[in-house]
Amino acid sequence: ATPTAVMVATGKGASQGVLIKGGDALEKAYKVKTVIFDKTGTLTVGKPVVVSAVLFSSFSMEEFCDMATAAEVNSEHPIAKAVVEHAKRLRQKVGSSAVHVAEAKDFEVHTGAGVSGKVGEKMVLVGNKRLMRACNVTIGTEVENYISENEQLARTCVLVSIDGKIAGAFAVTDPVKPEAGRVISYLHSMGISAIMVTGDNWATAAAIAKEVGIGKVFAETDPMGKADRIKDLQGKGITVAMVGDGINDSPALVAADVGMAIGAGTDVAIEAADIVLIKSNLEDVVTAIDLSRKTILRIR
Ligand code: ADP
Ligand code: MG
Repeated sequence: ATPTAVMVATGKGASQGVLIKGGDALEKAYKVKTVIFDKTGTLTVGKPVVVSAVLFSSFSMEEFCDMATAAEVNSEHPIAKAVVEHAKRLRQKVGSSAVHVAEAKDFEVHTGAGVSGKVGEKMVLVGNKRLMRACNVTIGTEVENYISENEQLARTCVLVSIDGKIAGAFAVTDPVKPEAGRVISYLHSMGISAIMVTGDNWATAAAIAKEVGIGKVFAETDPMGKADRIKDLQGKGITVAMVGDGINDSPALVAADVGMAIGAGTDVAIEAADIVLIKSNLEDVVTAIDLSRKTILRIR
């Protein structure tokens, strides 16, 4: 495209809340054959809430929630925010005057898996099965059953281990964005296929994918794995767009031919992307590709 055409198109995009960072992105969006979507915060609203909490130990629910909060309070992850919020509501409900929340010492983030830290003398892990396995925490049948029941309902389970034993768990739910299904079917009608990549587990990912009409899923994928899936497709000569919101999506946003960041996402993702969807509305994935197609077709 000529510099003038690019300028006109980027101006038009900007007025619609689609920030295109350069002519290169605009040129490539025209050729996109596959769009890869992150799940949490991209296809879903990204504000998970705790819908169930269960104990697998003799701690009281309050003690349990307070320890989980101590570990999660310094995490940026939306699931962490859900856990902290749930514990806060519980404390209000039981009329606890303890407004002070302990913070875990030696706090550590395990990307795509969870967090850990010491609460008093106790070692607390909060995260998924992968985190528990990596730390040699045994998951019994009772816990497995709780997990599979919830995952089939598209919920994500958050396991909490205290001193090496599962003490309890939360189930969180994160509703899909209202426009998600519509956007996927529109992409299909444009001859573009849609794929989901997520760090979340297979069962939850499959349930969400089904809800929005995505047929192909890569779950339990770490940040580099997301980028690898894109490189695999590119190796087959396919032009790929990636839509994501998190730090964990930034390698994939860079690897993609066209990286699109959700405006409400993290700064790291926004910096890594070629296009920013300011309104955080998935319809603008179509807007961006449409704009590119129109710009290029008009010139050629
Ligand atoms: P996504 O790719 O869906 O955005 P992430 O890669 O950020 O997800 O996380 C993958 C999984 O790791 C989550 O679904 C969750 O099970 C677990 N996880 C990550 N961070 C946390 C945390 N702070 N607390 C609990 N679980 C977490
Ligand atoms: Mg995300």
